[in-house]
Amino acid sequence: MADKSEGQAKFESLSYERKNYFEVASKEEREQMFAFAEGYKRFLDEAKTEREACAAAVEIAKAHGFTEYKLGDKVSAGDKKYFVNRGKSVVVFRVGSRNLEEDGFRIIASHIDCPRVDIKQVPLYEDSGMCFLKTHYYGGIKKYQWTAIPLALHGAVILKDGRKVELKVGEEESDPVFYINDLLPHLAQEQMTLNAAKVIEGEQLNVLVGGLPYADKDVKDKIKLTVLSILNEKYGMCEEDFLSAEISAVPAFKARDVGIDRALIGAYGHDDRVCSYPALMSVVENESEHTVLAMLVDKEEIGSEGTTGLQCEVYSDLMEEIALSLGANYRRVKAASKCLSADVTAAYDPNFAGVYEKRNAAMLSSGAAICKFTGSRGKSGSNDASAEFLGEVRQMFEREGVVWQTAELGKVDIGGGGTVAVYVANMNIDTVDIGVPVISMHAPYEVISKADLYSNYRAFIAFMK
Ligand code: MN
Ligand code: MN
Repeated sequence: MADKSEGQAKFESLSYERKNYFEVASKEEREQMFAFAEGYKRFLDEAKTEREACAAAVEIAKAHGFTEYKLGDKVSAGDKKYFVNRGKSVVVFRVGSRNLEEDGFRIIASHIDCPRVDIKQVPLYEDSGMCFLKTHYYGGIKKYQWTAIPLALHGAVILKDGRKVELKVGEEESDPVFYINDLLPHLAQEQMTLNAAKVIEGEQLNVLVGGLPYADKDVKDKIKLTVLSILNEKYGMCEEDFLSAEISAVPAFKARDVGIDRALIGAYGHDDRVCSYPALMSVVENESEHTVLAMLVDKEEIGSEGTTGLQCEVYSDLMEEIALSLGANYRRVKAASKCLSADVTAAYDPNFAGVYEKRNAAMLSSGAAICKFTGSRGKSGSNDASAEFLGEVRQMFEREGVVWQTAELGKVDIGGGGTVAVYVANMNIDTVDIGVPVISMHAPYEVISKADLYSNYRAFIAFMK
């Protein structure tokens, strides 16, 4: 091979091109990518709702020596703590040795709720040999994707006497699963001409839960009685208890490797476990001089509202309590803090090339993607991180050899989306979005690359150093 020409060498040193992380990773690093993916898949199968993700995160934190923190507790350097908010969001944190007023917090904010189909409060009815549950979907779904697949029911029920029962049916091989009916093609001539938003409508997302009539000729709704009898026997429930229940239908699929080379992972709920799992692991597995927090929050998919969403003051209360406990001025601490808003982005998909702008779209396996801004129609609703903060984060990644890329969700004016970044930035904390590119985001089964999962983890560690 001839030496590079002067122009070739100059071009290489002056131009920018993203890299495929698999391609540039060493053999050891590749092995680490695949090993890290195994723990992630276990987490995915265990944690399909925010309640389960919160509980699973607490278990992992405890196993690493973290103990529970309650608002108002005193903390000191070296403490390893987790703070649970109503069983649906959790902040896992380490108190560092550096001066909090000068150094601030290092926050990684991710979410643990996922799009799904929630059961209504008066859901149960029998019709034409079948028993169903009425639903109201949660988050942005393509409704037609949720028909004709195996579903599991997960949730919590508060019984009349105040007792709480947890419910999870459809995950074990021996469990039954549930189902949303679709129309056979033979009779779908008209349905097939409909707009995809109308192919299956919200009130058609009824979950099939039974078909066995109760053996008593005098009962009107015999299948409904069979279903109620089983719910009563197993959970002590009666129909009225749905009034104070939160039950979700989620895909019954397990996380699996995708591709003959096992480079990818298919699963329900990569958005946003593919960020919350590495956020959690980066804090529990690595020491830091900074005070670092992994926030795993709820309700992002419906606007981050309420007591468990990131707009709730509880997260600021927690940080203020930590600052107070360390004798630091909270306003100064916030001004010195930095946050990675860790949420997924769209992976460029050649099957739908028309909606992406290829130069600025996230490529699968090219690493965690930094989004300077999200939003829609002229960056509206986005925090639009500053060049200065991007420069800082870029240097952190450079120092640690993180392979990463930049991303914009799609073509200008094609659509858009938001994350929790704005809510953290509004607290006066420098924040930028980062996350893993996802194929078929918000579908019952989404796909990501093991390289991007691991890059995300590496990026979080670099951010904590
Ligand atoms: Mn998300
Ligand atoms: Mn989402």
